[in-house]
Amino acid sequence: MRAGVISVQGAAPEHVMALQDAMARMGMHGEVAAVRRPEQLASLSCVIIPGGESTTISKLLLRLGLHEPLVRMGEEGVPILGTCAGCVLLAREGDGEVDRTGTALLDLMDMKVDRNAFGRQRESFEAPLDIKGLDGSFPGVFIRGPVIERTWGRCEALSSHDGRIVMARQDNLLATSFHPELSRDTRVHEMLLRML
Ligand code: GLN
Repeated sequence: MRAGVISVQGAAPEHVMALQDAMARMGMHGEVAAVRRPEQLASLSCVIIPGGESTTISKLLLRLGLHEPLVRMGEEGVPILGTCAGCVLLAREGDGEVDRTGTALLDLMDMKVDRNAFGRQRESFEAPLDIKGLDGSFPGVFIRGPVIERTWGRCEALSSHDGRIVMARQDNLLATSFHPELSRDTRVHEMLLRML
């Protein structure tokens, strides 16, 4: 098993550690790679697209030749988790800011995101979340996170905060507005690994 964390910008090292912890808890063996080159993608069983700045990450994905292969992997059923900026990139539809900045979405999940919906109001906060499929609340760390405005098709909302969707799943694809890698709780990373 080889997991990859897209490491072009943003909160990648924390995801590497969270995946290692999750694997240890599940008794899984394997390695976690920091991915910057397309040839590294070929051998991966699952991928994480971290938080950061979605416009910057999208530009780097295109420039480094990672955009196309990631779309293909998502379509072919490779489990992908996108957190915060990564959640924005997984969506089919963005908001005015996504359009204005020319952010190239991966166009994989049937959802529309509002990029800074939480950020403008409250910047950063933490809130306990009820997540479908998990027992007990999950500590949601929000840092200028997006809101998933709506989902359609095969995309299902898994969690909401203040009536706004903050986590969704579509088959092999998982998106969170929050940063699961910044809490000690590895259950979202375990969800990704259980998709393998
Ligand atoms: N608001 C940022 C963006 O859309 C995401 C913030 C984050 O990933 N922490 O690019």
